[in-house]
Amino acid sequence: MFIDSHCHLNFPGLAENLDEIFANMRANEVTHALCVSVELASFPQVLELAERHDNLYASVGVHPDYELETEPTQAELVRLAQHPKVIAIGETGLDYFRLTGDLDWQRERFRTHIRAAKESGKPLIIHTRSAAADTLRIMAEEDAGSIGGVMHCFTENLEVAHAAIELGFHISFSGILTFKNATIIKEVAQSIPLDKILIETDSPYLTPTPHRGKTNQPAFVKYVAEEIARLRNITLEEVGITTSQNFSRLFLKRS
Ligand SMILES: [Zn+2]
Ligand SMILES: [Zn+2]
Repeated sequence: MFIDSHCHLNFPGLAENLDEIFANMRANEVTHALCVSVELASFPQVLELAERHDNLYASVGVHPDYELETEPTQAELVRLAQHPKVIAIGETGLDYFRLTGDLDWQRERFRTHIRAAKESGKPLIIHTRSAAADTLRIMAEEDAGSIGGVMHCFTENLEVAHAAIELGFHISFSGILTFKNATIIKEVAQSIPLDKILIETDSPYLTPTPHRGKTNQPAFVKYVAEEIARLRNITLEEVGITTSQNFSRLFLKRS
């Protein structure tokens, strides 16, 4: 019923507890999860998870915070994305919060990922932090909308959400949505069309209420869905079914 559209199951805290994590997913009706790459060095681990488990998928990309990583080329990303279990390019994007100074390399890396996504036909997973204007500008300049994708772990306002949707993108909410002070994000989750919404954990980070302080895991995506149901005054089932359909349409090309 629920799909975690963004997690890092190869990270410490999760990788050594996979049996328990899969059992918790089943117990909470979390049927699938997308394991997102942050660097090429650990991409084989991410891919192995997706190869070993029918209900896991992988993405390929280099995160904007990984400054010292060897720069991926468009050709290499396209080559790695040919694997049938690789369903997205990312995470990629801009992060002016964690890093400062001359970030031209970050913008160039983002453009490379957009071009690879368009060439490979696989949608983008976009990370943006304190960089919304530049992120949207580069998406528009590179015609990222022709391939589409998702703005993951959305923490921007309604105006940015509308601009991303206008460009052909989905909006994914993480456990941050359950935090009491997340007023602006709650407003976005209430207002945008349900058929543009995905849900995610970004586990092991961003554990939702009521489990804050513990390691996050895909099973907890249910709390994100519950908060959306509460905010929109619809059933949990409707949120689960619709966000799973949105995921399949976007990443698996199924309606
Ligand atoms: Zn991210
Ligand atoms: Zn992530």
